[in-house]
Amino acid sequence: MKFNYVFGPVMSGRLGRSLGLDLLGDRICSMDCVYCEVGATRELTLERRPYVPAEDILHELEEWKKEGHAPPDMITLGGLGEPCLNTEMEYVISGCRDLFPDVPVAVLTNSTLMLDPEVRRELALADIVLPSLDSLVPEEFHALNRPCPGVGPEEVAQGLLEFKKMFDGRIFLEILLAEGVNDSDANLGRLEAFCKRLQPDRVDVVTLSRPGTVKKAKAVDKETLERWRKALHAGDAPVQERQLARGATLSEAHVEDMIRASLARRPQTVKQLGQALGISEEQAEKAVTRLVQNDEAVSRDESGTPFYHSCRHEIEE
Ligand code: SF4
Repeated sequence: MKFNYVFGPVMSGRLGRSLGLDLLGDRICSMDCVYCEVGATRELTLERRPYVPAEDILHELEEWKKEGHAPPDMITLGGLGEPCLNTEMEYVISGCRDLFPDVPVAVLTNSTLMLDPEVRRELALADIVLPSLDSLVPEEFHALNRPCPGVGPEEVAQGLLEFKKMFDGRIFLEILLAEGVNDSDANLGRLEAFCKRLQPDRVDVVTLSRPGTVKKAKAVDKETLERWRKALHAGDAPVQERQLARGATLSEAHVEDMIRASLARRPQTVKQLGQALGISEEQAEKAVTRLVQNDEAVSRDESGTPFYHSCRHEIEE
């Protein structure tokens, strides 16, 4: 079966073998981050709607389960945009629990809707919430995250603090640094003070590892990353080296479908595709070569290692 809303599993340093659910079905987000791995935001909005009905997403999840894959370590709501924009998020979470009672549910969020008590109530149904907050300096926040008008870092921080008061699960805060944009000492000082108040279960400081929407967005150097991680008591988000269970032999068409869906979400190298999807690098290489030949994917050579991305991605200069 061809999946539109279920993708992966992908290997995540924090979540293990994580099966993704896309709650938007398109590039719909309340931000248009310069580093976004899934391309430019097509619809920039704060309006909550049932962009994809829970029923459609859960039907695909049920079909995926029927295919007999090993259960994932985590089901992660995210995908092509901000999952909290979907008003059916709570039904998706409860449906995941019905289908996979032993698998925890995580939500990736840019935190922009956290001031809404209804969003906080729905998010609190998850086991792990991974909010991002890259800068508490307004100019940096706007330059990096390019949010909907009216959204500022103070509101996002306030929403997160409110959420923390009512959430029993774990919060993994993520901060992404881009060189010359939000790696200032002013931002580090404000985030240090904020983390003391929020007390997240984990902080991850990361930088760009793949091409973003805007080509000139650059990663910070190792020293900067280390300095920030130390100051914020952050983990280093290691990629788990766990051997993935290799399922039954997959047909070439099935491997191609999985890679097509995975590349639509983020650019990856052949090695990353192999690890994430539990297939050999040889299988990944063959499939990605066919996608490139069919003009469904393109490769970009970043520091000697080709990254492949879907032709749906548009890279700004
Ligand atoms: S990185 Fe996340 S918050 Fe930013 S534009 Fe992409 S999907 Fe939206």
